[in-house]
Parts: sequence; C-alpha cells; structure tokens
Amino acid sequence: MPKKRYHKKPAQQLTIAKKRIEFLFKLAKEHFKEDSRLSDKYVKQARRIAMKYKIKLPFFLKKRFCKHCHKYLAPGVNCRVRIHKHRVIYYCFGCKHYMRHPVK
Ligand SMILES: [Zn+2]
Repeated sequence: MPKKRYHKKPAQQLTIAKKRIEFLFKLAKEHFKEDSRLSDKYVKQARRIAMKYKIKLPFFLKKRFCKHCHKYLAPGVNCRVRIHKHRVIYYCFGCKHYMRHPVK
C-alpha cells in the first residue's frame, strides 16, 4: 500500500493558525489567575490547532503547558522549575510528572 501523503496547508492558513495559537496562549495566561480550568481549555484548543496544521510549537510555548496532562503551567503556582545537570526541569503539580528541557 502506498504511504498516505499529507500535503502542507497553504502558507496563509499556517500563519493564521500560528497567530491563533499565540493568541490562545496569551488568553490562557491572562485568565489563569481567575480560572485555571479556562486556561487549560485554551491550551487544549491551541494544541488542537497545532496538530491540525502540523505546526511545531516553539520552545517558549512548549514549556507553558504540561506535556502529560496538557494543563497550563504557571511557574511557582502549579509547577516547579529547577535546573539540574544542564537541563531545565518542570515538575507539574497536577499529574506529578517531570518535563525536561535542555539548556542551550
Ligand atoms: Zn501535568
């Protein structure tokens, strides 16, 4: 069977999608203090857009949510940030999982 080919979406759509993702993360940040569940919802939506358009989330957005439970992470509130062995380690209080990012 031939491998199914995926075509990239038009560039214009991709830029709109990227803007929407950034906007959703901005909303998530703004609403976190009032309602963290709302922030989680925004993250979920942003992830869905990223998956649909196969957009790789930039590093600064990747560390903003937990990759295990997809909750919005606010350092010091629902996650702990530590540096260990040249890596930034995020510990999610929600699912008790770790995320490791290398330091460049
Ligand atoms: Zn988590």
